[in-house]
Amino acid sequence: MAVERTHKITLIPGDGIGPEVSAATVKILEVAGAATGVGFEWHRFAAGAEAFEQTREYIPKALYESIEQNRVALKGPVTTPIGGGFSSINVTLRKKFDLFANFRPVKNLPGLATKYPDIDLVIVRENTEDLYSGLEHEIVPGVVQSLKIITDKGSTRIAQFAFDYARKHGRKKIHAIHKANIMKLSDGLFLRCCRRVGEGFPEVEYQEHIVDNTCMQLVLNPYQYDILLTENLYGDILSDLCSAFVGGLGLVPGANLGHECSIFEAVHGSAPDIAGKDMANPTALVQSAVLMLHHINERATAELVQTAIEQVYREGKTLTRDVGGQSGTKEFADAVLEAM
Ligand code: NAD
Repeated sequence: MAVERTHKITLIPGDGIGPEVSAATVKILEVAGAATGVGFEWHRFAAGAEAFEQTREYIPKALYESIEQNRVALKGPVTTPIGGGFSSINVTLRKKFDLFANFRPVKNLPGLATKYPDIDLVIVRENTEDLYSGLEHEIVPGVVQSLKIITDKGSTRIAQFAFDYARKHGRKKIHAIHKANIMKLSDGLFLRCCRRVGEGFPEVEYQEHIVDNTCMQLVLNPYQYDILLTENLYGDILSDLCSAFVGGLGLVPGANLGHECSIFEAVHGSAPDIAGKDMANPTALVQSAVLMLHHINERATAELVQTAIEQVYREGKTLTRDVGGQSGTKEFADAVLEAM
């Protein structure tokens, strides 16, 4: 089919398993695009340690400019040094482009048996504040302070995003997840904002759960939840927990959404334990790309990719090891291409 329109997309392959899952995703999008009249012009950039080696910048200026111009990026995971070193590239990009809403749908794939069938949860995580402010200092030797920043503006806009999403997609329930029994001021403010926004959405049931109880409730009965609306750190932790319901981190996609730009990336990190071994499951990044295709209004391409992925899972013959299969990243990607 002739290409009817071409999208310019900033591509950050990332490191660890990033290059492998990105290569698989790009290949799948290219073929799906060709079948539906959609072209992609990929603007590729390194970030993090790899970028620093090449440009002496962890996030090259040209990468910032590319995201500003294209307004849409697809990103693989980038390793963040632990307990020192440079600040997280992921957090820096989210803050720089004010990508305030982290949207993470957690849904079973057909044919993939897990302990919890028919999960259909959405995590809406505030993406720019909280302990992720990275404001830390040593007051005196042996005493460190980390600042948790929660604002009315940040809390209100993420609550607005969650309730708008619920209304638009006919979702029934929102739980605000918090620890306001202990952090009375910060999480208290977050809750007040959620309640205030919720008043404008009488059709959406609104409840509040404390985060530690939520972890237990999720494992006992995840079906009681529909949308989890939460701050940055709790959302990060709950995302990994919820990913286990549907088969693990290899599956769950994500979107970092702002008013100007958006960056689509999987929930998982760079998985150094399996990097470079053709073992990574590219499904999470491919499903992130499906979210991106919907975002740029390429519905037919999105549906073609999603249907092909689901067919591969339904057949169950060419799955990666994390979900009980024997296949490599490339073999899985080829099976998706064949299913299109
Ligand atoms: P991780 O998500 O990289 O890996 C956790 C576990 O899940 C590992 O056992 C890994 O093998 C497995 N896993 C993850 N993705 C998988 C996939 N696609 N297919 C199969 N198995 C998969 O978490 P981690 O090990 O805690 O973090 C590693 C690095 O990634 C750290 O530097 C962290 O800061 C970074 N990180 C980056 C992002 C991001 O770029 N957005 C997100 C989370 C973590």
